[in-house]
Amino acid sequence: SFFKHPQFLRTKQHIKQTAERLIDQHVSLAVTGLSGSGKTAFITSLVNQLIEANEQAHLPFFSVLSESRLIGVKRDIQPDLTFNRFAYEDAMANLRLENALWPDSTRGISQVRLKIKFKRAKGLSQYITEDTTLTLDITDYPGEWLLDLPLLNMNYLQWNNQCAQELLDPKRRDLAAEFMLAASVIDYAEKADELVLKNVASLYKNYLVACQNQGYQLLQPGRFILPGELADAPVLQFFPIPSAIINQQNLDIQQPVAESYADVLASRFNHYTTDVIKPFYQNHFKRFDRQVILVDCLSALNRGYDSFHDLQKALDWLMGSFEYGSSNILSRLFKPKIDKLVFAASKADHITPDQQVNLVKLLDSMLHQARKQLQFDGVTTESTAIAAIRASQSGLSQIDGEEIPVLKGSDNLGQTITLYPGEVPTSCPPRDFWSKQGFEYPKFSPPKLQGAHSLPHIRMDQLLDFLIGDKMS
Ligand code: GDP
Repeated sequence: SFFKHPQFLRTKQHIKQTAERLIDQHVSLAVTGLSGSGKTAFITSLVNQLIEANEQAHLPFFSVLSESRLIGVKRDIQPDLTFNRFAYEDAMANLRLENALWPDSTRGISQVRLKIKFKRAKGLSQYITEDTTLTLDITDYPGEWLLDLPLLNMNYLQWNNQCAQELLDPKRRDLAAEFMLAASVIDYAEKADELVLKNVASLYKNYLVACQNQGYQLLQPGRFILPGELADAPVLQFFPIPSAIINQQNLDIQQPVAESYADVLASRFNHYTTDVIKPFYQNHFKRFDRQVILVDCLSALNRGYDSFHDLQKALDWLMGSFEYGSSNILSRLFKPKIDKLVFAASKADHITPDQQVNLVKLLDSMLHQARKQLQFDGVTTESTAIAAIRASQSGLSQIDGEEIPVLKGSDNLGQTITLYPGEVPTSCPPRDFWSKQGFEYPKFSPPKLQGAHSLPHIRMDQLLDFLIGDKMS
């Protein structure tokens, strides 16, 4: 019949495509990474590059701009009014100070919505004369929250066992001393006193923060470190019972005495999993279309072998949240939606241009196993190295008659420094490497903007094109 005729089917397909293109598009982009990985700097730069984008902007690989199809970008009221507003203006104000400051880091979830007006590429839209608007929602959330995913599959007893395992590490045991002391004098079969729980939980939190300061990244519960809006809420006032005490007091954690310490601790743990972790996945995470994960490989190298491995392990766990197909906890919770996932080694302005390739290789070596799985699940992944806010300049310097690539930037005190930060390894070096030479990537103060509107960057245009270019073709 006519309706099966290829000509009709083609026309129908064409009308459908045209109609889809007429309808304004929407992308929900999420940005995460562990504390200090560069989320705030990244979103600030992303918003800045878009809002300030014009013919002079340094975004040669952002096709909608290089093809002169971008009409304008402005900030709009964010969709979720329960989230904080991403503090773009504050961040820019800090960067524009005479003695510029880095913006305040991510503490919880926040959001910004941009309306991007553009013209469709020629050919596809010959019949469409109107401009199109892409609505881009950007959500910032701590990567630490994703480390909590495995807790959904545990009960309080299992979590206790896991904590006991972690405390076998002598360094962690040292850091936990004060908490262990306080947790060891409680009689867990007695009726619980809320104040005692609160105090001991805060010692547990101090222990996790101390671990973080020592370079540990794999810390649970994630919201103890970054509580977001839950700071001081009783749902965060629990802790594991030291294993020696469980034995000594002959406690039955599965069937504790009602209202006893053991009972209240177990029920708070359960609350945490069902009322804090689960809703994050169900209400927010499942709505993201695209995800950027920032990884600060260079600081981990600075800190040494253990820190580097801890970061690798944390990334492994973090990626569990994206393995929809194989992870039954997640497939019970929501259906997959993310179709593009970018791993970006951040702060690439700390190394010379010739080392950028190595940095991407190093990142890839960390992601290797988990990434294979993701490709299997039909998510397009990409790894890259970027500097959201480039704080150094690269050049060449003559040393002993030889030209070597160097970086120039300002240190914490605003003094100009020129240095050769050295080679980036393409995979994690053996432990003894650090005792011989180690790494020392510098920390720069933010660049002087001197009236410039756009922030200097490395590869933010390529990243933008990968993240939203296809929606603007
Ligand atoms: P967050 O905790 O993930 O929000 O991390 P931030 O975005 O606050 O970044 C933490 C710190 O890393 C900043 O204060 C800067 O010192 C540094 N940083 C982040 N991005 C860059 C960058 O692109 N270049 C340089 N040189 N430093 C950066």
